[in-house]
Amino acid sequence: MATRPRSAAVPYRVLERKRAGLALTADEVRAVVRGSIGSWSDGQLGAFLMAAAIRGLDAGETRALTEAMAASGDLWDLASIVPRAVDKHSTGGVGDKVSMLLAPLVAACGLPVAKLTARGLGHTGGTADKLESIPGLVLDMDRARCVALLEETGIAIGVPSSTIAPADQRLYALRNLTATVDCLPLVASSILAKKLALGAGSLVFDVKTGDGAFFPRLEDSLALAEILVGTACDLGRRATAVVSDMSQPLGSWAGHACEVREVIDCLTSGDGDPRLVELTCALASEVAALAGVDLDHARARQVLRGGEPLERFRRWAAAQGAERRWLDAPRFELAPIELVAEAPVAGRLAAVATRELGMLLLEAGGGRKTAGATLDPGISLWFRARLGDAVEAGQELARLYVRAGSEGLREALTRCFTIAETGAAPPLVHRVVRPTTATGGDADGTDSPSSGSPPA
Ligand code: URA
Repeated sequence: MATRPRSAAVPYRVLERKRAGLALTADEVRAVVRGSIGSWSDGQLGAFLMAAAIRGLDAGETRALTEAMAASGDLWDLASIVPRAVDKHSTGGVGDKVSMLLAPLVAACGLPVAKLTARGLGHTGGTADKLESIPGLVLDMDRARCVALLEETGIAIGVPSSTIAPADQRLYALRNLTATVDCLPLVASSILAKKLALGAGSLVFDVKTGDGAFFPRLEDSLALAEILVGTACDLGRRATAVVSDMSQPLGSWAGHACEVREVIDCLTSGDGDPRLVELTCALASEVAALAGVDLDHARARQVLRGGEPLERFRRWAAAQGAERRWLDAPRFELAPIELVAEAPVAGRLAAVATRELGMLLLEAGGGRKTAGATLDPGISLWFRARLGDAVEAGQELARLYVRAGSEGLREALTRCFTIAETGAAPPLVHRVVRPTTATGGDADGTDSPSSGSPPA
């Protein structure tokens, strides 16, 4: 038998054990993570990812992977300086603008909100790209700036730099190449590593389910929610996950500038699309409870109507560089060509191809086909009918705003809507997964999350 070079011994042994379906020790998992910012080749890391996707990772491996990926870069440990800081994460969807609404609402209730947020890729939009349609707004963030923003405005939103969980950055890029993106424990540890690096004490996850979600099937979304909450609690964080509906776009608009406008309109009037407002208040209420603040739905609605969240948003946006003149009179551009989808027959809106709507936005230039590509903030979707609505033949269901060259998308837009004799509005919140203890998991990690019914 050929002898392996000594430097290859650790990767070989770890890969052999994972391929055989054995649970890796925490030391072995740490060796993978050290290797991902060190000497492991793409081939070795790809083999680890594939073995993990096929054989799975148990709770202990997921915890060790999360912790090691977080520790592979800077640890901001925000909780040590801003003890009440909270963080919110969404697994993404079409028209999901909740973070931009939730942050000022929760900050207005005395809880600082810190968030490192992603750019959009594929059919889902990213909060960072949406916010960049505000002239002047800067999303570069380091620890000192994050703390200063939290102290000054109660909100800090930025994009992760290369020093935040660098091991995740390498592994995530390789997951894209090795068909291992949708492995649940890999997803959970990737999301959580960045949350841990930031270090807020309370985390709320909005795990989307339905056609426009990263994981469309409810059982997968629920499993992800349970891994996120269980792992976060094992690692000493307070966490709750809300499994929410993404079988139709959230709110009335999807795109970039138009979503910021919908948020500002909502903050200005204290009201908006009922599902958007309801979900925002549900998530705000959950994260506030984790941080020890009593914020029920009725109170959250009241705060939203009170005007303080709008003031917070304006102060925060100005502190992150937004042009004052723009904040005093926000202007938004819609792309000039309107493609209208009409109901071909009377009936009820029974299904929406939400992922496909996201892909149409992308196709029209409102998303990225490759990382780093520029996007057009004016490409927008106005979502007019909701699942379960009764519609007349010829009634407008949605309108896509595009630029010259994209007129051919009209038919595809119309095909995204199914009208049938029956159709019902889906529940907005399918499940809430809370920790079994209020303060985090047991030291040995035996705590497990419990899932309950959505709030009334
Ligand atoms: N977001 C992340 O940060 N990681 C994943 O794996 C999926 C979504």
